[in-house]
Amino acid sequence: PTVLAADIGGTKTLVALVRGRDIIASRKIPTERSSTPDVWVASVLEIAQEWSGAYRAAAITVTGQVHAGLWKGVNHDTLRVSEFDLAAAISKFGVPYEILNDAQAAAWGEHIYGSVPGSDLVYLTVSTGLGGGIVAGGKLLRGHRGLAGHFGLFSPDLLSGDNNPQPFENAATGPWIARAGSEASKNPQTAKSVFEQARTGEEWARRIVEMSASRVASLCRDISFAIDPPIIVIGGGVGLADGYVDSVRRHFAEQMPGQKPEILISELQEHAGIVGVAAFAAQTHL
Ligand code: ADP
Repeated sequence: PTVLAADIGGTKTLVALVRGRDIIASRKIPTERSSTPDVWVASVLEIAQEWSGAYRAAAITVTGQVHAGLWKGVNHDTLRVSEFDLAAAISKFGVPYEILNDAQAAAWGEHIYGSVPGSDLVYLTVSTGLGGGIVAGGKLLRGHRGLAGHFGLFSPDLLSGDNNPQPFENAATGPWIARAGSEASKNPQTAKSVFEQARTGEEWARRIVEMSASRVASLCRDISFAIDPPIIVIGGGVGLADGYVDSVRRHFAEQMPGQKPEILISELQEHAGIVGVAAFAAQTHL
């Protein structure tokens, strides 16, 4: 059965026809950050119309909190969504549908089609934000308010008495790497350009990438003590960048000697979210 799947992230929106783990057709468009959810969903609908008749269920995954059909942004620095009736918007597709948080969807995708099929796991996306998903006892943990796995919202600053604590994700993800890189080099940088210069041996760039990886490693340590999963799978635009997972693994080994979860790179790469939410919809409706 073929599912229409869309993944609306803080930087990009992916729309695809998905069958199992195969992408039959796909389109990638930028998420216009200054725009609003109705506009983002309308552009998904527009692409979907080109494929009408080719799918029997729809599946949408978005960054932020998904609960009782509503979508709400959790960190406005990642994507600004006040409260949007996603279920009502998707019902216009005229087929049965499912909606999920993006990292939860990706966790489900890796559980079904990842490098250790059927394994319990924690999935981390290091992208515009830092999201997570938990599969435990073979089930996707969504939480009572859809918030389960929002690890990027942990606030380490609380311990240092900072009364305006920053979410963890504001100091590790793509926008942070770009900002830190621009400051250090006194030139405008993107996350990608910082990674490229780290690879060619620029010390300032290497330090920023290592700082991000070391912070994500410390998050993996906290996750190990909370959930103790057999594996932690890392994806997202930053997570998938060459060498990043190796670097997280190295820091994790230093920060948590002895037994710990194995850290793996996402098998489904940038399609983890759409494949996961499509599988979730197919299992429920087809
Ligand atoms: P979204 O957050 O919309 O789901 P991504 O997972 O692609 O999208 O993450 C986007 C972030 O990843 C951006 O900050 C972008 O700069 C960064 N990024 C994308 N590709 C790369 C790359 N090859 N190397 C480093 N950073 C990247």
